[in-house]
Amino acid sequence: MALIEAFKRLLGDTAVLTREEDLAAVTEDWRGRFRAPALCAVLPSNTEQVAAVVRLCVESGVPVLPQGGNTSLCGGATPSDEGERPVIVLLTRMRRIRSRDPVNNTIIVDAGCVLASIQEAAAAVERLYPVSLGAEGSCQIGGNIATNAGGTGVLRYGNTRDNVLGLEVVLPDGSIWDGLYALRKNNTGYDLKHLFIGSEGTLGIITGAVLKLHPLPTAEAVAWLAVENPQTALDVLGLFQASCNSRLSAFELMNGEQIRLVLEQVPGRRCPFAEIDTWHVLVELSDTGEPGALAAAMQGVLERALEAGIIRDAVLASSEAQRKAMWLVRHSVSEANKKAGVGLTSDCAVPVSAVPAFIDQAMASVQAIIADVRFVIVGHLGDGNVHFIPFFSFAQWDALPDRDAVAQRIRRAMNEVASSLRGTFSAEHGVGRTLIGEMTRYKPQAELALMRAVKHAFDPKGLFNPGRVLPPSPSATPNIATSQRGD
Ligand SMILES: Cc1cc2nc3c(=O)[nH]c(=O)nc-3n(C[C@H](O)[C@H](O)[C@H](O)COP(=O)(O)OP(=O)(O)OC[C@H]3O[C@@H](n4cnc5c(N)ncnc54)[C@H](O)[C@@H]3O)c2cc1C
Repeated sequence: MALIEAFKRLLGDTAVLTREEDLAAVTEDWRGRFRAPALCAVLPSNTEQVAAVVRLCVESGVPVLPQGGNTSLCGGATPSDEGERPVIVLLTRMRRIRSRDPVNNTIIVDAGCVLASIQEAAAAVERLYPVSLGAEGSCQIGGNIATNAGGTGVLRYGNTRDNVLGLEVVLPDGSIWDGLYALRKNNTGYDLKHLFIGSEGTLGIITGAVLKLHPLPTAEAVAWLAVENPQTALDVLGLFQASCNSRLSAFELMNGEQIRLVLEQVPGRRCPFAEIDTWHVLVELSDTGEPGALAAAMQGVLERALEAGIIRDAVLASSEAQRKAMWLVRHSVSEANKKAGVGLTSDCAVPVSAVPAFIDQAMASVQAIIADVRFVIVGHLGDGNVHFIPFFSFAQWDALPDRDAVAQRIRRAMNEVASSLRGTFSAEHGVGRTLIGEMTRYKPQAELALMRAVKHAFDPKGLFNPGRVLPPSPSATPNIATSQRGD
């Protein structure tokens, strides 16, 4: 085909993947729930090559699908069965740390850099890039920006949006926007970078970014707590916020069912408590300065919480190895859930104070649809973001009659509860393809109309990641996309 030959002339033969076996890893999503063919995948080595690839696609009217580490949990990064086969643009050859400025507290990176490599590059100059998530060993900064990724550091440092100062983007007409500003203040018209953050590949290809760095904490205190229920977890969160303020850097909630799956599915993971059937909290304080002061602050809050009877038990990590082991349990939840069965993951956020009500009401709503279901719950409690997961073993799922319809009803029920509490159906994973129907149902028409106008202004031909984020037309019938294995 002429387009593929043109890519080969531009990039070289080895940078154009067309064989099914070479495309397998990029045409199926991380959970193995969506698979569809692509025309080819291309591996440009620099921004100019990305721009040239885009111009060739636009001339041929072929859809463009930017893909990062392919860790999307909402089917955003792989082709769909509908429409023309896309060209997948991979940035795996664009992994340069372009520059670091510890005085300005910034780092400039290629968008293909893996998140963990940016954390390491920042640490090498005694700085912190604070966005952290379970997929950090494989997700790319371009994907993080395109999804406005959250993770475990949001409580203190904000999400990806709060840590991006500038962007370089290849626009859908094949031109390059150099918005690599490394400025804290810049009131010169509309701040366009914010349109690309969270745009999920629908407005252009992010090729470079200026990221904010922070002082590297020299002291960390991590503890694992057992609490009675989500409300008492909130009470403990209040104690920590009052005593430690911005030194509180993570407050993660998990139920016993979630811990059980991690211990069963991921070798080498250990829970500090023998008693699993309780609610678990992983809490982290971090700061510059003396480690002793931080450990004392942690100890003080835990003593007060024990006296007040709002925690059942607590283990304070006494070494770096213990601290890492606790975090490994938290970071293993997605892997464990993927191995154990089919989870109908929700990514709702509600006001922090409404989290206990959300969990109670979501359980009741789902049980009204199907009584025989387990609930796996893991949440960034300090952000009000709860991954509430009705969970089925593979055998249970395969035996479930009319499972796609059941899955749709369950997902809708959870999102209705979030909506009734003024919450959202997508806190950090994005919309992708799985939540398109929810956009129609929950977003005000005026908001959708503005989003469509923005999309049209950037991508009038609709070639960039079509079928993602925006429902096709104002009259689209509410519908949640389904797949054989839930979502
Ligand atoms: C184990 C695990 C744990 C996770 N934990 C979290 C978590 O705690 N918090 C959280 O927010 N997410 C989490 N996720 C979801 C996922 O890791 C994030 O959404 C991540 O930001 C996606 O990055 P990626 O590079 O893999 O992007 P991909 O999955 O490849 O792509 C995601 C979207 O971004 C677009 N895109 C990718 N690169 C670019 C680019 N350069 N330019 C324009 N568009 C682009 C794609 O088209 C797609 O729409 C987790 C996923 C896994 C597998």
